[in-house]
Amino acid sequence: MAKKEIKLNENDPAVSRRDFLKIGSAGAVLGAVGLSSITKDAAANRLDKHLVDELVTIHDEFPVEVRADYVPPRNWDHVQYRSFFADAVKAIGEEVDDEIVADGQAFAQKMNFAYDDSKIGYTKTDKALLAGAWAMNNFSAGPSPAGVPDFGVNTWEQKTKKNPHALFDNDYVAKEKATFKSKQEAANQIKRAAKLYGADLVGITRRDKRWDYSKFLNPIPPLARKAFAGPPSPEQLEELHNWGPDKFVTDWSDFPFVPKTVIVMAFEMDYEGISTSPSLVGSAAAGAGYSKMAKTPYQLAVYLKNLGYQAVSAGNDMGLSVPYAIAAGLGEGSRLGQVVSYKYGPRVRLAKVYTDFDFVEYDTPKSFGVMDFCKKCMRCADACPTKAISYDKEPSFDPTHENKDNAWYNIKGVKKYHVDARKCFKLWGELGDDCGMCMASCPYNKPNFWHHRLVDSITAAMPGPVHSFMRQMDEVFGYGNVEDHESIKKFYSPKGKSYDGH
Ligand code: SF4
Ligand code: SF4
Repeated sequence: MAKKEIKLNENDPAVSRRDFLKIGSAGAVLGAVGLSSITKDAAANRLDKHLVDELVTIHDEFPVEVRADYVPPRNWDHVQYRSFFADAVKAIGEEVDDEIVADGQAFAQKMNFAYDDSKIGYTKTDKALLAGAWAMNNFSAGPSPAGVPDFGVNTWEQKTKKNPHALFDNDYVAKEKATFKSKQEAANQIKRAAKLYGADLVGITRRDKRWDYSKFLNPIPPLARKAFAGPPSPEQLEELHNWGPDKFVTDWSDFPFVPKTVIVMAFEMDYEGISTSPSLVGSAAAGAGYSKMAKTPYQLAVYLKNLGYQAVSAGNDMGLSVPYAIAAGLGEGSRLGQVVSYKYGPRVRLAKVYTDFDFVEYDTPKSFGVMDFCKKCMRCADACPTKAISYDKEPSFDPTHENKDNAWYNIKGVKKYHVDARKCFKLWGELGDDCGMCMASCPYNKPNFWHHRLVDSITAAMPGPVHSFMRQMDEVFGYGNVEDHESIKKFYSPKGKSYDGH
């Protein structure tokens, strides 16, 4: 019998009958869970199990190709770092592009001080929402979002004794080490603790030097990195007096221990908030994520210290969160450059804890077809007004955009879609917020309703033509719109929150 073929449009290659049978089998999953007789949440769980079994690929190794000449970046190979800490970069003898400094100043000035009550999404109340969202990060982790380590709660210090003057000081490494019956028990308890402290997803992976910054530029004097805990000692004042550019650069030889394990956490950002992108409300959703990135990893680091192990919490500082999250099984890479998680799509922020604890069951990378879907979808590239996101069909080892020879933070040598960070950052300066339209537009960014997970999973399982079709269906159903004023009203509406996050 001749193979039956169906064409979705004349430019797409044919979809085979076998492919449609795959859709059919996914549909059969729906039937099998008996939706009418069980609750939606229970259906979602059963559906997840079926779909995980059917569609998720487990990898033994890191699932992205890395070229032999790949060199791990330094924390100042980052457009934001070079902008916000330009003087420090110059002080160690490196050049900084004035345009990038100006973009950063415009961004910081507008985002911190400007509002306009006639501009929806940028009013005084939106600005207040933003300020509160960022407050915990700004107070406790300071410049971590721009890549500066060893500040506030992300301190590298590993005290071995309680502060005798502080009854509730628990931030020290206990003398006695806790033991676990099995590596799985250890993993379960660490993950449970992380979730108690506020993580939405947790994965545990081995420390991988490829993803750590090879060097750190930290111009902040040690005294200024700590919360004020009493008058400085004469030794501390002497240290401050001698502080200068010759002490700005450190590396792993200055780190207090040899990390063996990295615990990676993802924090969901508010769906309605991100849907307002670009606006101060969208930035507030990101800022609330950053505040969670400051709080939860620190709590987990203190937990590990109380188990008797050394630990340092980190947000964007210390190393690259995206490959660590992929290695820890939290999601896949994507065209827009962020991790796309199974449950929340790209709408997550990531943080890490480095520890010397290694008696633990490690997670493995998992993929569910995102990179394949990205080849056809390109919705984020269409949504990006600056065209910072690549339209390349295939991922590549080197950036292909026009600034490719003068681009930072592009992780050359890793096979991925490369984003033009300079173009992106320029728009942040113009808007006075951190945009996020790419994330809002992505078909994987949906409330976590079970039927969306099914649709996403079908798209993951299917070849290119169906991917194009599914992108179109996403648009028809009204998902992923950007620059939509209605989304601001929806965010503030008491009825606007469309789901409770579970
Ligand atoms: S944040 Fe905005 S400017 Fe940057 S890549 Fe995404 S859509 Fe483009
Ligand atoms: S919008 Fe489409 S192309 Fe962009 S990351 Fe999401 S799935 Fe990939």
